[in-house]
Amino acid sequence: MNGIEYLLSNINSISGIGTKTSNLLKKKNIFTIFDLLWNLPRDFIDRSNIFKINKLEIGKVQTLKVLVNKYNFPRIRNLPNKVICEDDTGKIDCIFFNSYEGYIRKILPLNNEVIISGKISFFNKRYQIINPTHISTNENSVKKIQPKYSLTDGLNEKKYQKIINTVLKSLPDLDEWLSRDMSKRFNNISWKNSILQLHDPKNYNKKGDFLNRLIFDEILSNFLISSSVRSKIKKNKKTKKIFDNGPISSVMKKINFKLTNDQLMAINEINKDLRSDMKMFRLLQGDVGSGKTIVSLIASLNVINSKFQVAFMAPTEILAKQHYNLAIKIFDNNINVDILTGKTEFKERKKILKNLSEGKIDLLIGTHSLFQNKIKYNKLGLIIIDEQHKFGVKQRKKLSDKAGKNCDVLVMSATPIPRTMIMTIYGDMDTSIIRSKPKERKEIKTFSKNEKKIDEILKFVQKQIHNGNQIFWVCPLIDESKKVDHQSSIKRYEILKQILKNKVGLLHGGLEKDEKEKILFKFLNKQIDVIVSTTVIEVGIDFPNANVIIIENANKFGLSQLHQLRGRVGRGTKESFCILMFKNNLSENAKKRIKILKSTNDGFKISEEDMKLRGYGDLLGFKQSGVKNFRLADPIHNEDLFLLAEKEVKKIEKENINLNKYNSLLKLYDRADILNDIV
Ligand code: ADP
Ligand code: MG
Repeated sequence: MNGIEYLLSNINSISGIGTKTSNLLKKKNIFTIFDLLWNLPRDFIDRSNIFKINKLEIGKVQTLKVLVNKYNFPRIRNLPNKVICEDDTGKIDCIFFNSYEGYIRKILPLNNEVIISGKISFFNKRYQIINPTHISTNENSVKKIQPKYSLTDGLNEKKYQKIINTVLKSLPDLDEWLSRDMSKRFNNISWKNSILQLHDPKNYNKKGDFLNRLIFDEILSNFLISSSVRSKIKKNKKTKKIFDNGPISSVMKKINFKLTNDQLMAINEINKDLRSDMKMFRLLQGDVGSGKTIVSLIASLNVINSKFQVAFMAPTEILAKQHYNLAIKIFDNNINVDILTGKTEFKERKKILKNLSEGKIDLLIGTHSLFQNKIKYNKLGLIIIDEQHKFGVKQRKKLSDKAGKNCDVLVMSATPIPRTMIMTIYGDMDTSIIRSKPKERKEIKTFSKNEKKIDEILKFVQKQIHNGNQIFWVCPLIDESKKVDHQSSIKRYEILKQILKNKVGLLHGGLEKDEKEKILFKFLNKQIDVIVSTTVIEVGIDFPNANVIIIENANKFGLSQLHQLRGRVGRGTKESFCILMFKNNLSENAKKRIKILKSTNDGFKISEEDMKLRGYGDLLGFKQSGVKNFRLADPIHNEDLFLLAEKEVKKIEKENINLNKYNSLLKLYDRADILNDIV
């Protein structure tokens, strides 16, 4: 077995680990020997001080020097063995569960002086230590400082120490994968040495140096894997798309606004990709309402003009419909647009599939149904995926492969995330970012209101309705773990119905998909003025007429989520409002969130603040991104190492360095389980 195989082997293969222990370790997400290494000491226990019995503190781990005074080995099942020890200030009991007499006699020989150590407790008016962890007859042989690991119930410190020591002793030497420059940056500390040092009590207070090297490894591996997916995708030459910009001006005439600079820049970047002989694999990122749809439709038009078909995948039926309507409106009649969703009837569907395979449809908009096996395109040239932050790197790669060699890929996401996160989640793609919103877009005015003042809010709502505006009223799930708990929204709906009669609709996760869409359509067509809902209001739907969102119990939501919710309004040119309702006694953190929201509408800024408050793991979309959490690296705190790794990967790409050199690294950290797919 080579070093890597050893590290990736099951923890069962360590002698002394049976099914029971391995099940306990699994609870801590430790499956392989490599996993075990990442359970770094949480802390170190200092045993360098020897305490007298009258100076012991209950609950602390302390070390003492005592004389073994008396054995008490009851011959009754379930009663523990006891050894009474003393020093010149008092007595203490050592209690042993499940230990043989012979063993106890050996480690605590009668009338000898010994060093014992363990957690001090108090029972029957006497100090005691249960299963003392470190016993020695020689003061000098007691390990002065011991690492402390985070363990689960049932796994004791001593056993764990033994396991980890076994592993550390047989840690293989791996060939250095870092370049000479990088290695030097981390003081030439090898991977193995970093690990050993981090588990070593000597380094009690100075893990920084060793940790950084390991964090860098982790980031580098993530980036290298993305980079190889990327180069794999780019390797196959595609037919260049050939188009001129004429038809675009006809589109521009049909929309009543001018594109923003960021939109124009994104279009340029996309066009460049389309015209090149390398496959486009691009992320278009922009905050809610930044105008991604028009950019993607212009890209579609260019692809269609170069005699290719386009597939546009929306996350929901209603969004597909909305995109479809827009496409019909802005494209000339000679361009054939169609829509295919789960609801499309059999006959219609058959016709669409036939037209599609015969090349009679230029742009097909739809939901997931667009990529079922039965569907054959005539000449697919571009896939657009809207709001799919649930796609991980592996699924994207699959999609790109399935789309065929001439097909470009554009993914759109409305989750504004900092750059280190983009590099992590979307490192396999090129990115275009729409940062600025359309100029005439007014800031959404954000207020916070104590729920006691509900009467004022109701008055405001009625006034807005009177002016022809529409309102979202969001209630949180009362209990996140019970996804069916819609009480708060139902209650609010009942109250509003009494006042607003049939002008209010209710939307929650317990409704069937059809039912949900029906209500949204009603809202879109202005048959109702208010939607009371849980957070299910879909991402991305354009309700230009909705200009007020009221969020009850706003403190229950995270910052990014509040921002996304707020983004449901303010898409038209109307003045829009977001009212954050709260109860008394807000926590400091909740106050902070509300303050940040009031102060800015910039999604990027907000997500950065959110990461600072909650850590990156909770960031919207990250969990679904298919990127497993880093063990050590943190995109907020290790930004410098992320940038360093990015630079290094660029260098590796540029100098065409053979990735074989990084084989061990990649195998160890294959976090997306993707390696098999790409090499
Ligand atoms: P998102 O980026 O969230 O998908 P949309 O593409 O749905 O945003 O656009 C939101 C709204 O902004 C739409 O009503 C769209 O017509 C409008 N819009 C897009 N670009 C501009 C622009 N440059 N100027 C003014 N309005 C725009
Ligand atoms: Mg959108």
